[in-house]
Amino acid sequence: MLGRLLLTASHSDRLRDFVATAPVTRPVVDRFVAGEELPDALTAVRGLTDGGLDVTIDYLGEDITDASQAERNRDAYLRILDAVAPLGLGGRVEVSVKLSAFGQSLGADGHALALANVRPVAEAAARAGTTVTLDMEDHTTADSTLGILDELRRDHPGTGAVLQSYLFRTEDDCRRLATAGSRVRLVKGAYREPASIAHQDRRAVDLAYVRCLKILMAGDGHPMVATHDPRLVAITRELALRHERQPGTYEFQMLYGIRTAEQQRLAEDGEKVRVYVPFGTDWYGYFTRRLAERPANVAFFLRSFVPG
Ligand code: FAD
Repeated sequence: MLGRLLLTASHSDRLRDFVATAPVTRPVVDRFVAGEELPDALTAVRGLTDGGLDVTIDYLGEDITDASQAERNRDAYLRILDAVAPLGLGGRVEVSVKLSAFGQSLGADGHALALANVRPVAEAAARAGTTVTLDMEDHTTADSTLGILDELRRDHPGTGAVLQSYLFRTEDDCRRLATAGSRVRLVKGAYREPASIAHQDRRAVDLAYVRCLKILMAGDGHPMVATHDPRLVAITRELALRHERQPGTYEFQMLYGIRTAEQQRLAEDGEKVRVYVPFGTDWYGYFTRRLAERPANVAFFLRSFVPG
């Protein structure tokens, strides 16, 4: 119930203004967001990569209303790739993009606009020796996002996609994408979706996740297992043994600031672990989705208003 309310609140401009201007909430936001500017993100990237973790950088720029904002988001990614190329870390530092921020949400031309804006980012990533992963947003964007994935993979086969286990369609999508060269990030799903197309019950979402995981781990692609759920991490490691997969032929992914000790423990145990590092001024939607995932985060957030 609380999670649903928060997902609704993620679209509230008034609440966004309140949270953004209340200084007491800043430490709470900082737990999940690496900062507002590129140097902040690069500091986080250096800390994580020095500690043996890989990174995917997300520039927070959702909810755009015109094509010029989409171009600004594209340019922000080009600057990120310019800044990470000299680090010489290749695929250890990649970028994640939300196609809504590249124009996908701007009416009938949105699909073509997003493709035109993301293509130069995929080219810049290739020049920097790294990759782009297309985040998945709400279900209305899934066909367009997977269509853009297919287009980009013609020239950049390592472009990654995200599939959400809560959607009924996802097992079929996993089968289609579990092929050589593909990179699929499997998540439970973070948006509020109708019962006609998505599992609503947490256990059903978890069981669907395991079914999808089995398809991806048995396939020839590179599964990116994005979860903080200890049970799913353990099942992934069992499946890796069963299919004789070496670490690096699959990877774990977790979010910046969440289960950081577990990220480190898995990496020290020889697993490839990538941390999703969001930064930027437009952090509100991302932040409320993280609160919605866990009631304890809401308590942490509310406590920040209590003095002393
Ligand atoms: P849960 O059952 O939610 O959590 C398992 C345990 O993890 C919890 O008990 C808790 O200990 C810990 N935990 C989980 N979430 C939090 C939190 N917010 N704060 C503190 N502890 C927490 N979703 C999309 O819809 N599209 C995407 O493109 C997308 N990309 C993602 C990329 C990465 C790298 C990750 C890790 C997640 C991404 N997600 C995305 C979010 C995902 O869909 C889930 O909402 C999120 O990961 C929580 O699910 P979980 O698998 O961690 O399991």
